[in-house]
Amino acid sequence: MPLFKTAEELMGVAQDRVLRGDFGTARTRYLEASRKFADQGNVPMANLASAYATLMGLGIPNPRRAEYGAVAQALAPFGGMPFKVGPVEVPASTLTQEARLLSEGCDLLDSPVETPAQWAALAPRFQNLSMAYRQLGNQNLSLTQVFGHGSVSASKMAPFMAAMAEEAMGQAVLLERPKEAAEHFENARNWWTQAGEPEKAQAAASRVGLYGKSAKCWFCGREVTGEGVQYIVRNAEMGPWTTSATGLGLPSVDPSRSAVYACKGCASTVDGIADERARQRAEEVEAKLEQEIAQLRREMEAIRMPR
Ligand SMILES: [Zn+2]
Repeated sequence: MPLFKTAEELMGVAQDRVLRGDFGTARTRYLEASRKFADQGNVPMANLASAYATLMGLGIPNPRRAEYGAVAQALAPFGGMPFKVGPVEVPASTLTQEARLLSEGCDLLDSPVETPAQWAALAPRFQNLSMAYRQLGNQNLSLTQVFGHGSVSASKMAPFMAAMAEEAMGQAVLLERPKEAAEHFENARNWWTQAGEPEKAQAAASRVGLYGKSAKCWFCGREVTGEGVQYIVRNAEMGPWTTSATGLGLPSVDPSRSAVYACKGCASTVDGIADERARQRAEEVEAKLEQEIAQLRREMEAIRMPR
């Protein structure tokens, strides 16, 4: 084996490493080939080898937005040219499109979201992504398969992203309009089922149950919607007399009769009072304990005195 390989030979070595799943070495060889082609003034081949090297960046355990974004950018100029990735040949345009969608998906799923406005901003992006996957039909993504990141089908990603769009819309309106949020989570439940994600569908269904509920606050009588959102359930000692208190309209007592519904406002006030009482009680106990210790000391002193 010659010590110095030609650029073409290096390309062959790199391709062989890809077949063995050694993407790190493959990347190094493609970069070496690219430098040699550049030295020879063969710009098109230097660019091609460089694009292959960028593609090998997906061989890391968990590529995200940056890696997929770099691949989309590197492969876009090659149009329909077939790229040999391991055992398969895929047009650069297909790989570019896949890399764009995967990059956008990672960006969306990795976005830190806290406020309703942030959720609202994500929803249309999830929707667009879902539509883009729908256009790919039943295609399995070559990029995830070749680099060992599992089999991802466009027909699963389309409903997956649609579900995420509905959940984002639900989160956006949850605090102000829990009933509307419940409708979005109901839509999400359908999409999760289509995407073959029964656990996520179940989680969405339980949110529908909670957010769709309305109640009347036991303390102030305000009508509130969304359990855990606008009101919470509080344990309470209840008796037969509570029936008359609930009266007509929305319930203020849990059907189990061992809890009442409290709007967030009343609940937080009650919590405040409870905290204050607990603090007072602790101080009282402490003061009493100090008195008792002082008394004990005096008694011990008295015992010692006669000696
Ligand atoms: Zn209240």
